[in-house]
Amino acid sequence: MSQPLTHKGRPVPYITAWSREIVAQPNVMATAGGLAYAGTAPGRDPDGVLWQVWARRPGSGEPVWNRVHGLRQRQAMRKFLCQVCGGPADRNEQGWLWLLEDQRDEERREWPDGWMTVHPPVCRSCLVVATRLCPHLRRGVVPVRVGEVILDGVYGQRYRVGPLGLLGGERDTLLMGDWQSRWMVGGQLAASLDRCTVLDPAEFGIEQPAARRAAAAP
Ligand SMILES: [Zn+2]
Repeated sequence: MSQPLTHKGRPVPYITAWSREIVAQPNVMATAGGLAYAGTAPGRDPDGVLWQVWARRPGSGEPVWNRVHGLRQRQAMRKFLCQVCGGPADRNEQGWLWLLEDQRDEERREWPDGWMTVHPPVCRSCLVVATRLCPHLRRGVVPVRVGEVILDGVYGQRYRVGPLGLLGGERDTLLMGDWQSRWMVGGQLAASLDRCTVLDPAEFGIEQPAARRAAAAP
């Protein structure tokens, strides 16, 4: 495993943004092909996504615990890096190791096949640490092996053209190639997961929140 950066003795996940990485965003404007940045700011990437702009200065300033650094998040998704330490994520014959918020219920028997996530995979060493560090994982998590990962989505902020110009809309996840994604500033790359195997959290030493344990009791 690689060593994550620390702040005041606490490990800071690889994908967490640092305060000096947040930069002023270029103005957006409406064009025939969707949103564009004004001036000399970067254009769409080869997938047709206009991405939010970041500086890359990990360790600079303070960690911003609730913000994900878009560039490192995309890099972790594309190269299968652990979201906590930035080293290679774990993989075996069943696939890549992922930690997901437990969404199993009667309605979703197929879960997590077909599920979309913006959270990158993890390595074995960081699995338990990730359950403590990631706010979205505190409610009950399951480790999952993912046999097939398709990077086909983008999470970001939608815009629409109003009578007085562009209006910022809701945050959403859209498939790349969806025309609506041309009216979005991308924040994070989303992956569709398939050929998944749900593993037993206890085998990995993952503690479940008391509420879920109580609900699972007969
Ligand atoms: Zn790791």
